[in-house]
Amino acid sequence: MKVIVTAPHGNKFLNDVIAGHIIKHLVKLLDKTDIQYETFINEEPRSSGDQNRPPARDSPYREALRESLVEGADLLLDIHGFPNSTTSPFKGHDIVVLRSYKTQGTLPAYYYYLLKNVSDPTMKVGLLPATAENDVVKEALEHGIPAILIEHNESQASELLAKIHCKCLKIIQVENGL
Ligand SMILES: [Zn+2]
Repeated sequence: MKVIVTAPHGNKFLNDVIAGHIIKHLVKLLDKTDIQYETFINEEPRSSGDQNRPPARDSPYREALRESLVEGADLLLDIHGFPNSTTSPFKGHDIVVLRSYKTQGTLPAYYYYLLKNVSDPTMKVGLLPATAENDVVKEALEHGIPAILIEHNESQASELLAKIHCKCLKIIQVENGL
């Protein structure tokens, strides 16, 4: 199984500050499995261009990602973060799977179900509709790669969140014979 992991808002100080940390821990865990992966973390601040919106498609970040999309993968996880103080619909959640496009099929609900099953019962997991274009997910779907966007509460431990994703990926690998 091959997974592409992205963080289009991966600046460690300004935007989605937890995203890069989750991916760093996830990579260490995946190295102990036979799951192949590629990661794409955009360190540029979101203010210099939102890499998750359609106008960013010709940026160096998106062009590097596209090469991987063309090669193909079994899944793309788009990793985001939000502050605990958010007033958005994410408020009160620890992890939120976004339903962005009909072409995602049952994947958002499936991943939500896996997250609920592998995480501690105190962890509040949500499945919510996206309110904006998630262009990384959209472009992956255009290349036939199943893709989802996942938001993470930045008050949670990035290592724990990475462990939860690694467990979900291992289940996906087994259940889908990948
Ligand atoms: Zn984000």
